[in-house]
Amino acid sequence: MTSPYPLGLRLDGRRVVVVGGGAVATRRVPALLDAGADVLLVAPELTPALRAHVNADRLRWAPRRFAPEDLDGAWLVQVAIDDPIAAASVSAVAAERRIFCVRADDRAAATAWTPAVTRQGPVTVAVLGGGDPRRAMSVRDAIRDLLAVRDAAPIRDRPDAEATSAATVGRVALVGAGPGDPELITVKGWRLLTEADVVVVDRLVPGLLLDELRPDVELVDASKIPYGPSRAQEEINQILVDRALAGAFVVRLKGGDPYVFGRGGEELLACAEAGVPVTVVPGVTSSIAAPAAAGIPVTHRGVAHEFTVVSGHLAPDSPASLVRWDALAGLRGTLVILMGLKNLAAITATLIAHGRSPRTPAAVVQEATTGGQRVLRSTLDAVAAEALAADLRPPAVVVVGDVVGALDE
Ligand code: SAH
Repeated sequence: MTSPYPLGLRLDGRRVVVVGGGAVATRRVPALLDAGADVLLVAPELTPALRAHVNADRLRWAPRRFAPEDLDGAWLVQVAIDDPIAAASVSAVAAERRIFCVRADDRAAATAWTPAVTRQGPVTVAVLGGGDPRRAMSVRDAIRDLLAVRDAAPIRDRPDAEATSAATVGRVALVGAGPGDPELITVKGWRLLTEADVVVVDRLVPGLLLDELRPDVELVDASKIPYGPSRAQEEINQILVDRALAGAFVVRLKGGDPYVFGRGGEELLACAEAGVPVTVVPGVTSSIAAPAAAGIPVTHRGVAHEFTVVSGHLAPDSPASLVRWDALAGLRGTLVILMGLKNLAAITATLIAHGRSPRTPAAVVQEATTGGQRVLRSTLDAVAAEALAADLRPPAVVVVGDVVGALDE
C-alpha cells in the first residue's frame, strides 16, 4: 500500500458531516468543533455528550438515517457507524462527489485517516501508525514528552534566544499543586512546572513533584523564610516580583488550590502592582480531596445539599475570627474545617452549644492522598478527644456531617 499524504485541514466554517451518534462520533466531534468546523451530525440517536453539543447549538443534528443530500456542500465526511453496509453506502456517495471520507469501521475502505495528535502551543503533531493505532499513539506520546522537554529548556538554550533578551519581563504562574499525591496536579500546572526557571514552594507541596524538575531550576523553599507569617509573605511576594522582573518564568507552587487559604490573592496583587504578568492555575483542593480520599463525598443525594469550607486556625472566641460558628451550627449540610486540629475541642463545643447534634458523624483525615494518610471516624462530641488520643497531626481536614457515613454499608 502506498503511504498517505499528510495535510492539515483548515476546517474553520467548512461543512463536515459526521454520520453516527455513538461512541466514535462522541470522540471525533470535539476536535472538529475545536477546528471551527460547521458540523452536521446525521444519526437517529445521540449519546448524551453529543446531545449536549446540539443543545448548546454547537452543531446541527439531522435526527435520521443518512441521505445522499447530507453531503451537499461538505468538505469531509466521518463515518462513525458499525453497520458495514450503511457505512459503505456513505463512502460510495462521498467517493462519487470526491469528498474525503474517514471510516471508523474499515480503514482500508477509507479515503482519509485520522492520526493520533498532540499539540504544544502552536505546534500540532499528527502521527499515522501505518494501520496500527496503538503504535501511532505510543509514537505520539513519545513526541509529546519530547516537546515538553524542549519547551522546558532554559530560555538561553532556545533557538529564539535573541528574541527574548534579558531585559524582557518574565512572568509568574500561581499553580495549585493538589492535595499531596503528585499525580493530582493539573495537566496545565504540570506543564508550567516543567517550563519554570524558578519554583517557589510551600511546606504542603508534594515533594515528589520537585523530584522531576530540571537540575538548573532555582528552587526557593518559602517555608524556610525566617520571619513571622506576614513578613514572610512580603518576602515571598518580593521574590516572585524580583525574579520575574529579571526575566525569569516563576512558578509559585502551592498546596491544594492557590486561592483556598493559600494567600494566592496577595501574591497576585503584588505581581500586578509590580507590572508582572501573572496567571492562576487552580488546583485540587484538600477541602474536597481529603474527604474524598477517605471515602466521604462532600455532598450526597438525600444527605447533604451543601458543603461549607471554613478555616479553624483561630479559636471560635478569638476577636480576630471572621467565622460565624453559631450560624454554622445551624446548617444541616457538610462542614469541612481546614487548619482546625489545634482548636478542634473549642470548635466542636461551640457547634454543639449552638445546636448541632453531638451525635453528628465527624471524621479527621490527615495527610490525605499521600502514603501517610490516616482517617479517624467519630462523632462531633468525641472527635476532638479521639483525634488527640490518636495523635493526629496537621495537615488534616475535619469533616462534620451525615456524609461521613453516607457510603458505609
Ligand atoms: N490551599 C490548600 C489549603 C491550605 S491551608 C488547599 O486548597 O488544600 C492548609 C490546610 O489545608 C491544612 O492545615 C489542612 O487543613 C489542609 N490540607 C492541605 N493538604 C492536606 C492533606 N493532604 N490532607 C489533609 N489536609 C490537608
